[in-house]
Amino acid sequence: MKVIIVGSGLAGPVAALALQRLNIASKIFELRSGTAFEGGNIALAPNALRVLDQLGVQKRYGYKALRISRGIVRQTLLEAVHERGIELRYNSRLVDVRETAQSTVIATFADGHIEEADFLIGADGIHSRVRTYLDPTSIPRFSGQMGVGGTLPLSKLPESYRDMYMPCLILGKLNSLLLMPCTNSGDRVGVAATVEAQDRTREGWAQLQNDKEGIYTELQSHHENDSWPEVVHVACRDIEPSSLSIWPFFQLPELDSWTSHSNKVIVIGDAAHAMPPTGGQGAAMAFEDAITLADTLALIDGKDEDPAESVKQWQTDRRERTKKILQFTSTGGNMRKSSVSTYKQIIKEWVMWAYFLWVGKEARTSWIYEYETKRAVP
Ligand SMILES: Cc1cc2nc3c(=O)[nH]c(=O)nc-3n(C[C@H](O)[C@H](O)[C@H](O)COP(=O)(O)OP(=O)(O)OC[C@H]3O[C@@H](n4cnc5c(N)ncnc54)[C@H](O)[C@@H]3O)c2cc1C
Repeated sequence: MKVIIVGSGLAGPVAALALQRLNIASKIFELRSGTAFEGGNIALAPNALRVLDQLGVQKRYGYKALRISRGIVRQTLLEAVHERGIELRYNSRLVDVRETAQSTVIATFADGHIEEADFLIGADGIHSRVRTYLDPTSIPRFSGQMGVGGTLPLSKLPESYRDMYMPCLILGKLNSLLLMPCTNSGDRVGVAATVEAQDRTREGWAQLQNDKEGIYTELQSHHENDSWPEVVHVACRDIEPSSLSIWPFFQLPELDSWTSHSNKVIVIGDAAHAMPPTGGQGAAMAFEDAITLADTLALIDGKDEDPAESVKQWQTDRRERTKKILQFTSTGGNMRKSSVSTYKQIIKEWVMWAYFLWVGKEARTSWIYEYETKRAVP
């Protein structure tokens, strides 16, 4: 069996590593260059770390949650891809997908390169080209919220706040701000604010991403209000501009199918289901999709079986899980949206307080974090 993987963000390399451990050959095609390691901090929840552990990547972290630079995670995955001899072509933008009567898939890239394989996995993110092949009407829409993140030394926080419990989520009237350690020693603090924003064009978002002063001003404008505690004022003032990045949140209408009719073209990760970052499950869902799909393809490999049943079952299980997670994380995200009325804000805070008192420390989340990927394999 030969597999084409489009995208070397997070889902793509995990899919390639998961296939390789089952002796299935794949080639990854990535539109960016080999030196592009963008992105702010992302959450790696215990279920995300469990997948990395199964692939022998980042074992040292165990299953505790982590917020870590997306660039570091991607670099670690790509190092494993290179070490294990998996072919990865950079500067390769997929422009066309075609299925043949011989049950193969042909991918065409912008530089004219053509590749043929038995399966094509679209791990090409929220603005997926592969998804357009499956459903041209499925267009992501800006959610109205944007993440703004950056870091500063812990020593810059007011002394009385330096040993406060982190991660610490502070709900303001207009948005929320999260403070968390972002190094193993805890000597640096990550700041992640979720703020409301106006939609922009793709170029407009890229422009803001490169405008560190602009992001700094944006962050300030949402947190200069006196209702924020001192620690928020200081964190937003002393955040290092060079560390700043934004991440606009997009929503994706539910797809009718994650696969083509033949089940030979399949989307995973953000290409299939954009997750609101408020639940910290974007990477986890991408990793789970990738490893369970690899296990499913291994069941078909070398057999003359029609892949339909196995892939269909995989899709049913994954859709059910991602839908449940999406509902859970969207509820959390809505709680972080602005409440223009002080009265509503107070009620919201009391409801959240009562909820956590009722559900306890673990917040009944074991179904999210203790998920066993083997269960999703037909
Ligand atoms: C540049 C960038 C920065 C990000 N920063 C953050 C962040 O700060 N916080 C956060 O929570 N999430 C961030 N994310 C998203 C996060 O990585 C994903 O939400 C999640 O982890 C799922 O990963 P994924 O592999 O499905 O998608 P992604 O990580 O988005 O990866 C998709 C990959 O496909 C490639 N690609 C797209 N189209 C094509 C094509 N036509 N041909 C070939 N390759 C293609 C992209 O270049 C990218 O490398 C970022 C994503 C990107 C691409």
